[in-house]
Amino acid sequence: MKTATNLNLFNTLTRRKEGFIPIEEGKVKLYTCGPTVYNYAHIGNFRAFLFEDLLKRWLKHYGLEVTHVMNITDVDDKTIKGSQKQGIPLQQYTAHYVEAFFEDIKVLNIELADFYPRATEHIPEMTALIKKLMGKGYAYRGEDGSIYFAINKFPDYGKLSHINIRELKSGARVRQDEYAKEEAQDFALWKAWSAEDRDAFWETEIGKGRPGWHVECSAMSMRYLGETFDIHCGGVDNIFPHHENEIAQSESATGKPFANYWLHNEHLLVEGKRMAKRFGNYYTLRDLLGKGYAPEAIRFLLLSTHYRQQFNFTFEGLEAAKSAVERLRNLVWRLREANGVGSDSNVVDLVSQVEVDFESAMNDDLNIGVALAALFDFVRDINALLDANKIKRQEAETVEKVITSIDDVLGVIGPTTTEETLPKEAEELIREREEARKTKNWKKADEIRLQLKAIGIVVEDTNAGVRWRLEKKT
Ligand SMILES: [Zn+2]
Repeated sequence: MKTATNLNLFNTLTRRKEGFIPIEEGKVKLYTCGPTVYNYAHIGNFRAFLFEDLLKRWLKHYGLEVTHVMNITDVDDKTIKGSQKQGIPLQQYTAHYVEAFFEDIKVLNIELADFYPRATEHIPEMTALIKKLMGKGYAYRGEDGSIYFAINKFPDYGKLSHINIRELKSGARVRQDEYAKEEAQDFALWKAWSAEDRDAFWETEIGKGRPGWHVECSAMSMRYLGETFDIHCGGVDNIFPHHENEIAQSESATGKPFANYWLHNEHLLVEGKRMAKRFGNYYTLRDLLGKGYAPEAIRFLLLSTHYRQQFNFTFEGLEAAKSAVERLRNLVWRLREANGVGSDSNVVDLVSQVEVDFESAMNDDLNIGVALAALFDFVRDINALLDANKIKRQEAETVEKVITSIDDVLGVIGPTTTEETLPKEAEELIREREEARKTKNWKKADEIRLQLKAIGIVVEDTNAGVRWRLEKKT
């Protein structure tokens, strides 16, 4: 049985890589901050969700049993503002974006979490947590009727973001869900109803109002994973104030550590700039699909840079990602047809090498760059053996097995077994091209190849003859 001690993860709490040790042997409790459903998720959001998907798939590949909780923030400052702008009830407004979120993650082949708790369905857990904090003296009611967390009562405040405690304006209060590090102050756990909240309120023991964003995640994570769990993920912009406040609320209430490992992915840039609507470089997943890009290419691209590095999204990169996925898919097709003379254990060596290299790279804080380099070296070497007709049936099956096992982690190859039919016009072109090749008219053959490509057919000349396949669009 494998143990998890080889797996190193960079913990934001300690700012170093640590050997991962789960609380319960063989199991991992994972919480990832989910979408705020006030809009379609953009590619920066998906970078986070895909990093978390890669982490989860790797933990499972490692042999660990993962319980994954991702919350859905369906009440906060942004959702309320959005629903009012459209003049529809909050629930109706968020329902549309919840549905869109689930469609998007399916398209991107993101594995489903075990639980997707919605904030609006966990108000009792939140009010119970707030009552507990008030009872222990960590929270107080302000003159506006809202309930605030007193950050000076929690000596560890700032341990995640490494904020300087002396700079904290304790006693000063912030009601908004989002604010800057420089403005660290007592934050709202419960926001007393005011006319501008309109229909967004609950009548509770602690008054009429709504929860602050931060307390939602504390209440929902502990509800499903217990007072202490293994891993908490999010984007770097969540470190402060969101995750800092989650720690303060949860640890003050329970007196126990909240999450043992905090993993954060870096920002995404687009063509070297911060992504923003006003820069004209803001993309949702739907925008990219609308431009004709395949989800596998988008998935591959967003996964292919190490999560702790800033990632620069470019359309050039997306084209390269498309070719990379094609290369993997091609190899699978070629392997299915391989029936060569045998490689004298060359294949066995290459397979064990790629397994070792991929695994050790991923165990090093999900070093995907090194892992992918190992994979594509392997693809190149296997292709060379296939070119030389040296891969026998049984070896091809072994190679396909290792590719499939790696793709369980990457999730980019997709189904390769669908029956494909050739359009009539393409049949004719392929026949013409065959004729051209027979008469060694390479120029004409190449021209036809381009014509075929334009209608989505890829032809390849292999030792076994001409092969064709449909270029994958979706
Ligand atoms: Zn959260």
